[in-house]
Amino acid sequence: MDIRVGDILTMKKPHPCGEKRWEVLRIGADFRLRCLGCGHEVMGARSKFEKNCRRIERNGEEIHETKNHRS
Ligand SMILES: [Zn+2]
Repeated sequence: MDIRVGDILTMKKPHPCGEKRWEVLRIGADFRLRCLGCGHEVMGARSKFEKNCRRIERNGEEIHETKNHRS
């Protein structure tokens, strides 16, 4: 999955504040994401977020998983 800093991820499960969208702040072995609803920041394994991610937005456009395989 092609995820970059600044992308907006829509998760399958909402944060307790009700927001499902998170901004990517840092990528690497661990990702750091910020909840767009309440500003809460979390860190965790890339695989965990990829598994829970339903949608990726970049510059306001949806990124499809089947393209943009370049890194
Ligand atoms: Zn939140």
